[in-house]
Amino acid sequence: QTQRAFNFNAGPSALPISVLEKAQAELIDFRGTGMSVMELSHRSSTYEEVHNQAINSLKLLLSIPDQYEVLFLQGGASLQFSMIPMNFLQQGKKAGYVMTGSWSEKALSEAKLFGDVFQAASTKEEGSYRSIPKVGDLKFNSDDAYLHLTSNNTIYGTQWTDFPDTGDVPLIADMSSDILSKPIDVNKFALIYAGAQKNLGPSGVTVVIIRKDLLEQANTNIPTMLKYSTHAKNNSLYNTPPTFGIYMLGEVLNWAREIGGLTAIAEQNETKAKLIYDAIDTSNGFYHGHAEPDSRSLMNLTFNLKSKELEKSFLELAKQEGFVGINGHRSIGGCRVSAYNAVPIDACKAFSEFMVEFQKKN
Ligand code: PMP
Repeated sequence: QTQRAFNFNAGPSALPISVLEKAQAELIDFRGTGMSVMELSHRSSTYEEVHNQAINSLKLLLSIPDQYEVLFLQGGASLQFSMIPMNFLQQGKKAGYVMTGSWSEKALSEAKLFGDVFQAASTKEEGSYRSIPKVGDLKFNSDDAYLHLTSNNTIYGTQWTDFPDTGDVPLIADMSSDILSKPIDVNKFALIYAGAQKNLGPSGVTVVIIRKDLLEQANTNIPTMLKYSTHAKNNSLYNTPPTFGIYMLGEVLNWAREIGGLTAIAEQNETKAKLIYDAIDTSNGFYHGHAEPDSRSLMNLTFNLKSKELEKSFLELAKQEGFVGINGHRSIGGCRVSAYNAVPIDACKAFSEFMVEFQKKN
């Protein structure tokens, strides 16, 4: 049997082994076509079936209502930082950004290139993004173009648990690092976007879930490829989509349904995160979490050790023991365990045992 690593990478990250095996088995001759899915025309009926199946699976899993479109785009979540203001920041209006980390900062600075923006809240000053603001503390106006938030902060390790009711103001969320990790009420959002390379599949596809009425309100003087309506009108087949990535996404969605859907996945994610947070909380300060306990992410678990020296030897030993991806993001250092959907409970158990053992010896 092939040796699989304990993969805690922040993204691209672990994929379900059954999906990889299926892709391997189907690679050379995809469903009797005599070619791989990568070699099919994106206009063929075989590919179209793969494409539509992925869209429908996502709709089923997330209970996406009929008034939303699911789009498969390219350019990563980073291109969404620009496409959102380009399409939806109208002249004379302002867009609010909730600042909870580096990705919110990037989203805000792109939006500044297109119009008026403001910070609806920020948790930067009160201790380097350790928390999520209270829903009631967000400041925005009823005539704003939209309100943007980052549902899970991949670098700092914080996550929203409840989302604001924004009334007529479209709520837009970057869910790159926690989409599909638990059930969500899609109705609260006008637009949800996510790069695929954490919970959804390989990098190269960006999922956008957009309410249809928003499409009608979009600015028009923008390049064709950067208009959401272009992709909505063409079922994300205006130009050549990332066909292999969409195939993989479809298979990941099938796997998610097979293992019991988002409720079952959420339970697993809670169990996994608890294993690591318990090791932190029972360590008497040997380990300390970056996030405030009530803002902790179940996807990216960030922590530090008592001293830089200890942290260095912890990270070195973790690597030697086969735990991959534990180094914190290069911008903040420290340690980070990314426990996305496809990371097995056993991997988290093994790592939490490693944490306890390391503490005993040091
Ligand atoms: N938003 C969040 C929350 C992320 O974690 C990332 C990537 N790690 C991005 C945006 C940027 O995504 P991409 O690399 O797909 O542009």
